[in-house]
Amino acid sequence: MTDCLLVGGGIIGLSLAYELSCRGMAVTVVEQGEWGGQASSAAAGMLAPLKEFSQPGPMLELGMKSLELYPKWAEELEARTGIDVQACKSGLLTVALTEPESGELLEKYKWQKASGYAVEWMTGEEMRRVEPLLTEQAIAGIYSPEEGHINNRMLLNALVAACKKMGATLLSGSVVTGMAKEGGRIVGVETTTGPLRAGHTVIASGAWAGIMAEWLDFAVPVRPVRGQVASVSSSGIPLRTVIFGTSGYITPKLDGKIVLGATEDEAGFQRHVTLSGLAKVLDGVMPYVPALHSAAFQQAWAGLRPATADSMPLLGPVPGWQGVSIAGGHFRNGILLSPVTAKVMADYVESGREDALQPFLPSRFLGSTTNR
Ligand SMILES: Cc1cc2nc3c(=O)[nH]c(=O)nc-3n(C[C@H](O)[C@H](O)[C@H](O)COP(=O)(O)OP(=O)(O)OC[C@H]3O[C@@H](n4cnc5c(N)ncnc54)[C@H](O)[C@@H]3O)c2cc1C
Repeated sequence: MTDCLLVGGGIIGLSLAYELSCRGMAVTVVEQGEWGGQASSAAAGMLAPLKEFSQPGPMLELGMKSLELYPKWAEELEARTGIDVQACKSGLLTVALTEPESGELLEKYKWQKASGYAVEWMTGEEMRRVEPLLTEQAIAGIYSPEEGHINNRMLLNALVAACKKMGATLLSGSVVTGMAKEGGRIVGVETTTGPLRAGHTVIASGAWAGIMAEWLDFAVPVRPVRGQVASVSSSGIPLRTVIFGTSGYITPKLDGKIVLGATEDEAGFQRHVTLSGLAKVLDGVMPYVPALHSAAFQQAWAGLRPATADSMPLLGPVPGWQGVSIAGGHFRNGILLSPVTAKVMADYVESGREDALQPFLPSRFLGSTTNR
């Protein structure tokens, strides 16, 4: 019997497990495959709320709060484990190549600036002073100096090590096959390696969360959206900043890789890289940094983003049941949103109070009849 059982050992399950362990709870995480082996290791690791959320509102606020939590979160994990998670406040350029693109970006810049966010409007020349490898075709854009990236694979390693240090039980290679019910309460799960019992169970199974909610007769709309990405060597291409254009992004990492992304494919649970997907990624990024034409190709891979019908995460209790909640549906931003998710969900698991989870409560989908 454990206090809290996390179903899914991706960035969300592991972050929450770590936070709850630090608060003195007995925690178990169960993962069917490898730790972080799905979307969380596939991600590009950008920490970019101002780029990602195109309007003011709860998503941008949540993202900014998480970005603020990141330095201390990363520092603490590094101190606890000795693992360098390669956090980097590189700054991010959102680049326009045409007048219509520039007009759209200028509108975004105006409300972001008026709201007090750290953004600067730049001409092409000013942007090339920030990032000399940016194409001559760039005419204007937004520079956000506070955004950056992290090595999500190292972060996953650090979270696994930190959870173990804090006494959490980590079970990998065990598939959750059902929920254990006692009346209206969930008391744990059934797995391929035996039953597990818990005071509280959190579904943190990424793109698979909808399937588990269906076991509880709750048709929550979570679906997999495949993202295909590639990497090239940064040797001879000394990029400084993250670059975002309308057809792709370029993320220079601290480990010698430049990560190039990404497609958004409706392909069910298929996780393979397609030739057309790879071509789309490569064609999409080269116009922004001409030096990429001669880059040494390293690898291509794909992952399944957990998307919800309204593109907002699901945080909080499963309606109609005691003892079970969801932390999922983080779509394109689960790496960014992991510290804030860990904090607000740990507060909820400890106190049962839902107010801080608005408007992300899963109950907003009550009455939904489809999982798409
Ligand atoms: C190409 C790509 C690029 C991305 N780039 C970024 C980025 O730059 N910045 C950012 O913030 N986010 C990014 N994301 C999004 C981010 O990766 C996700 O939002 C995040 O990883 C979701 O984490 P998760 O823990 O919910 O899901 P996952 O990492 O998918 O973890 C869920 C886990 O649950 C396990 N599981 C499922 N079913 C069961 C079962 N029955 N029993 C046991 N275990 C089970 C799975 O094996 C899996 O390991 C990107 C995603 C992709 C695909």
